[in-house]
Amino acid sequence: MEFCPECGAMLLPKDNKLACKCGYVKDLTETETKQYAVDEKVESKNNVIMRGEDINTHPTTTITCPECGHNKAAWWLQQTRSADEAPTRFFQCLKCKHTWREYD
Ligand SMILES: [Zn+2]
Ligand SMILES: [Zn+2]
Repeated sequence: MEFCPECGAMLLPKDNKLACKCGYVKDLTETETKQYAVDEKVESKNNVIMRGEDINTHPTTTITCPECGHNKAAWWLQQTRSADEAPTRFFQCLKCKHTWREYD
């Protein structure tokens, strides 16, 4: 921290110089310039929590499994080829784990 020799106020860094509100300007040496350089390095913390696809979190519905004939299946919506198309509904039998998509 440096102070103005003219009025005693605190000098503020400005364009590689130290300037005072009274008009006094002190040129900085290269070393001093680095000393006053602003460190803009921002430490970013990535707190992404990985979530696995868990079949137990899907809602269930009453539908007949084409494989084993069980009448309960979990279902979920899944975006297929492009975002322009409506998402496809998939089913997974709770008994034999057979997975099939809804046909329209
Ligand atoms: Zn001053
Ligand atoms: Zn089944």
